[in-house]
This record gives sequence, structure tokens and C-alpha cells, in this order.
Amino acid sequence: MKRRDFLQATALLGGALTLPAKGYPNLLPAKKPKQVLVIGAGLSGLAAACKLKKAGIKTTILEARNRVGGRVFSHQPLDSLTVEMGAEWVGTSHNRVIELCEEFGLELFDNRFETDLIYHGKHESVGNWSLSPEMETFWSNKKAYWEQLSSKEKEKMDRMDWWRFLSRKGFSDRDIDIRELLDSTDFGESIRKVSTYCALAEYAESSEKNEMDLKIKGGNDLLPKKMAESIGSDSILLGRNVSLVEQSRDGVKLTCSNGEVYLADQLICTAPTYMVMKINWQPGLPTAMTDALNGLQYARIGKFPVVFSERFWGRENFDCLTDGVGHYFYHGTKDQPGQKGVLVAYAIGDKAEVLHAQPKEVRLKLILDSLRPGFGDLSKLVAGESSYYWGKDQYSYGAYAQYGIGQWFDLMPVLKRPFKSVYFAGEHLAEWQGFMEGAINSGEEVVEQMLS
Ligand SMILES: Cc1cc2nc3c(=O)[nH]c(=O)nc-3n(C[C@H](O)[C@H](O)[C@H](O)COP(=O)(O)OP(=O)(O)OC[C@H]3O[C@@H](n4cnc5c(N)ncnc54)[C@H](O)[C@@H]3O)c2cc1C
Repeated sequence: MKRRDFLQATALLGGALTLPAKGYPNLLPAKKPKQVLVIGAGLSGLAAACKLKKAGIKTTILEARNRVGGRVFSHQPLDSLTVEMGAEWVGTSHNRVIELCEEFGLELFDNRFETDLIYHGKHESVGNWSLSPEMETFWSNKKAYWEQLSSKEKEKMDRMDWWRFLSRKGFSDRDIDIRELLDSTDFGESIRKVSTYCALAEYAESSEKNEMDLKIKGGNDLLPKKMAESIGSDSILLGRNVSLVEQSRDGVKLTCSNGEVYLADQLICTAPTYMVMKINWQPGLPTAMTDALNGLQYARIGKFPVVFSERFWGRENFDCLTDGVGHYFYHGTKDQPGQKGVLVAYAIGDKAEVLHAQPKEVRLKLILDSLRPGFGDLSKLVAGESSYYWGKDQYSYGAYAQYGIGQWFDLMPVLKRPFKSVYFAGEHLAEWQGFMEGAINSGEEVVEQMLS
């Protein structure tokens, strides 16, 4: 059973998706809408708007930023080179992203890497390091292990953190340290904060490279841009920060911080949870929902690209896991022509916070020091640097949702409930949570729900 099926089954048993809960005074609106407003022009909002447009429903997106794409954010540190400050990889299991790329004529290229390790001051190239035979065996059998568990056993795993699960299996400290470094890049925080259910479900259901497979040629932001084009620029209003949502029998009334007012029959809100809580809701959101919104944390990820005058790492598919503050490095300009190249330091949790807080020179030194055991002093090769820390992004305050211990089954069904004429969508509400695929799935699913 996949996570989505599992979630739907448990939600239906508990009535979470279809029945009112305490504090939810009324159900979904009876009529199909003629006009819909969408908060957010990230992939979720764009996917919802594309589907509504196809269904012939007048739709307007209100987006606080001055660009579309939200957490898909491509950046040119040099005119000739593009790196991703937000979403990086498209997985081979991410069917909707792949289909949409085909529909819009976007090319996906191989963005898989082979990983070096710098651990306890020692550099080992790919092929020269491994985990213990016990861990390697467990890892290659994880799908079978997952599939033989009962639904009850799986659900129970949501109550234990991933670090503890691995420790209790008796793996060595080195194995667990390295899994911490590897897996915390996926969840954006230490695996001591990640539920075993979330970790195992994701790893058991993912591609061999854990969905770190492909990338859009020319920049991942080409996808939201193409989706926006197909919706039409007059239906996407940028720089509109929704600050007040009022609901009445007639529908929804949205007020933006610039004073503009918009009316519609129904609303789809794709804002991350922190932003949902910043909106003034009239009437107020039910307590169960505000509790869930307050309970869900977001991963703190920072991307710190460094431009080097030459690609000293020697192969296009280079990445390197380190136990330094720079954490995980990958070649952000893989297969882009030119002598110069960019290594992106991808740091999570407190490491990201620390790097973000430092003056530029100190940050660069900390990043280069993480690579020093393998490559010596790299300072003379540096040709530029930039940084983006999602923990302080004004419209998300985090990279993506990080479901903690016991939260997957408790919070997600509550967060997915519509509230009168308002539906909620976004990566945080999807089976492929934390991915572009999840954002698109969630936006499309909510439209199906609205129109069913
Ligand atoms: C560092 C990082 C790495 C990632 N890596 C990957 C990866 O490798 N592969 C992958 O598939 N995914 C990855 N992701 C996740 C992916 O980017 C997200 O899952 C997806 O883009 C989220 O889309 P969304 O539409 O749900 O939310 P968003 O993109 O956040 O869109 C929501 C929009 O709502 C707007 N908004 C918020 N509040 C308001 C308001 N009050 N009024 C108006 N507008 C508002 C925001 O500005 C935003 O544009 C990564 C994300 C980050 C940050």
C-alpha cells in the first residue's frame, strides 16, 4: 500500500476527508463554482489553475511574490550558468512532472551523481567507501522489509524517530552518522526529528537514487513559467499578498495588503502553513486546524552556490557528502558548457542557519573548510558565491514541510479538510510530500475534489 492509499484509507476510516469534525460547522459548498481564486503561483496553485481552466472555470491566482514558481527558483550566478536555489531533482517516479515537461516541450536530463565522502577528516572517492555489510544488506532489502509489514505496524512506526529505529537495529555509529548525513538532506533536518514511517515509506517507494534523477534543461523554473503562460498572464496577479479572507453565504472575499479586494465562489489556498496562519480568516479557522498548522514544522535548508574558475572535481557527476558545516556538495552546473562550474553547498537545520548568519567571507571559509580534507585550499579558485536560506524566506519560512514524530497520520488529514468554501493544497498535503510532484498532485487533486 502506498502512502497515499494508506492515508486515504485511514482518513476515510476516521472520516477525516469527508465528514465534519468538531469545530467544523459546515461542509463543502453544494454548487460547482463559476469563479475560483487561488492563493499562490507555486506549482500547486498553477496546477490547480491549469485544471480549472480546462474545466472552463474562471480562475485568478493571487501571488505575493513578483514571480511565479514559489519554491522552484532558478538563479544565474553567471550569465552562462544556471543553478537551482529551490527544487533541484525530478524523480523518475514523478509522473506528472515528467508528463508536464513533455506537454510543454521541456527537456529533462540526467542529474544523477556518484558520491564522495569526507568523514572525520578523511576523503574517500566514490567506490572507495561503503557502509557496513549489515547496513548495505538492510538498505537493499528495505522495500521487501516495508512491504511485509502490516498497516498497523507501519502506522506504529510514525511514533518513532528514524535515528532511534536505526540505532535499535544495532547499526554501528559510523553507519548511523553517514545515514544521518545522507537522509537529513532529504528531510532537511536531523533524522532524530523524522518519523520512521515517513523515512521508510519514502525510501521504499522511491527510485534507486531516491528521486534524485533528472533536471529540466535551462532551469527548473521553466516548468512554472510554461504553466503560467498556458493559464494566461491576465489571470495571474503578482505582488498580491492576501492578508484577509472573509467567507459568507455568497462565497469568498479576499483582501490584499495593498487594499485590493477580490471576490469568488470558492478559494484554493496553496500557501505554506506559516503563511496560512498569517492570513486573517473571518470566520476563524477551526481550532483543530490551527493546532495542526501550528504543529507542523518546515525544514531549514540553505543553498550556498560557489562559482569556481575551474571544475577541479574532475567529473560532471560529482557530489560529496561531508560532516563539515557545508554538509552536502553537488555539481550544480552538471553538463552545462564552460570551464567555470558551481558547487552548491546544501546545508540543513542549524548548519544552514549558521552559514546564513555569517558575513560572506566567514561563510565562504566555512564552506571551503568542509572540502579541505579532500581538496586542500580552494580559495584561489573561487570566482563568486551566492546564498539562499529558506528558513528566512518571507513567504514560506522553510523549505518544505517536515512531518515529525507521530504527525503524518494526525496532522495531514486535518490540514487537508476544506473549510466552508476554502480548499487547501500544496506540497505539505501530498503523498510525494516535499517534492514538486507532490505540489502538482495536491493542486490537481483538490480541483477534482472541488468539482466532484
Ligand atoms: C531548498 C529546496 C530544495 C528542494 N528540492 C527539491 C527537489 O530536489 N525535488 C523536488 O521535487 N522538490 C524539491 N523541493 C520542494 C519543492 O520546491 C516544493 O515541494 C514545491 O515547489 C512546493 O510548491 P507549492 O506550490 O506547494 O508551494 P510554493 O512553491 O511555496 O507556492 C506557494 C506560493 O504561495 C505564495 N503565497 C504564500 N502566502 C501568500 C499570500 N498570503 N498571498 C499570496 N501568495 C502567497 C508564495 O509566495 C508561493 O509562491 C525543494 C524545495 C526547497 C526549498
